[in-house]
Amino acid sequence: MIGDGMALSQVSAHWYWEGPDNIFRQFSSIGFHTSHSSDNLVTDSAAGATAFSCGHKTTNGAIGIYPDEASCGGIVEDLEKAGYATGMVVTCTATHATPASFIAHRELRAFTDEIALDYLQTPFDCLIAGGENNFRGRLDKKDLIDSLIARGYAVKSGSQMKEIPGKGEKPFVIFTDKQEPPTASGGRTYLPGATRLALNFLKKRSEKGFFLMVEGSQIDWAGHANDRNWLRAEMHDFDRTIRAVLEFAATDGETLVIVTGDHECGGLALTKGTGKADFKAEFSTRLHTAAWVPVFAYGPSASMFTGVYDNTTIYSKMREALGR
Ligand code: MG
Ligand code: ZN
Repeated sequence: MIGDGMALSQVSAHWYWEGPDNIFRQFSSIGFHTSHSSDNLVTDSAAGATAFSCGHKTTNGAIGIYPDEASCGGIVEDLEKAGYATGMVVTCTATHATPASFIAHRELRAFTDEIALDYLQTPFDCLIAGGENNFRGRLDKKDLIDSLIARGYAVKSGSQMKEIPGKGEKPFVIFTDKQEPPTASGGRTYLPGATRLALNFLKKRSEKGFFLMVEGSQIDWAGHANDRNWLRAEMHDFDRTIRAVLEFAATDGETLVIVTGDHECGGLALTKGTGKADFKAEFSTRLHTAAWVPVFAYGPSASMFTGVYDNTTIYSKMREALGR
């Protein structure tokens, strides 16, 4: 689970806003990762997510490729080949940097129409994301939704998460929006329910097990906008989503849950407020920063995630936990 732009100050602010019921209290295996990319101390989300998906540093803006631009084999591809089920649930478009880095291999994150094509190259079992317009209504006139259906996917539009498309018998895609989904403060509520839906689907999809990437995509955008109310709503939404996953994992007993961010965003400082127990959330930049990022783990092999390590180590620790 990736809170984009979520580092220690975002988690701290959430802890104070949410009070004693905040979900981060539930974790006892906690570590930190260093998030720098191959060419910059301050990473972007493309290099950040490529580090998680491929276990390699790359240049800022690069999607699922090495610095020399060769494709890196990602965890989704590896696990699909080995018979695991895989999925992603995000609150941005499917072609946005974080989900793209688990599926696509492209020189730049801005090549979103090309990134959409890679969803027909890399097998996956479920995707819940915005960005339907990158798949249908494209400049090149290709209808990638027809192509997905031809490949056996059930494809649905909308943000109601009542039932699994294709009755759970087919891989599926749910487009929650034509473009970017709304903000959590602007009426978007699907992330916890979509995550529950994906978990229940993936658990049944393969005997071997599954890999699910869930992203609270807009925590980062609130940071860029220096908007503390937006940040608060996104952190609350991500909290509810982590809660849903931990409930699943506690019942299931075989699921390792890893919650982290890709980098800090906004240089958030928690300064003295007006009252004794009050604080002010103040941003110092509209960009990302190089602050360490916390890693929270729960379930089998969770203790592997304590300590301080590089972001690429999250990939190798996941492989180790899988015994692969
Ligand atoms: Mg992202
Ligand atoms: Zn960002």
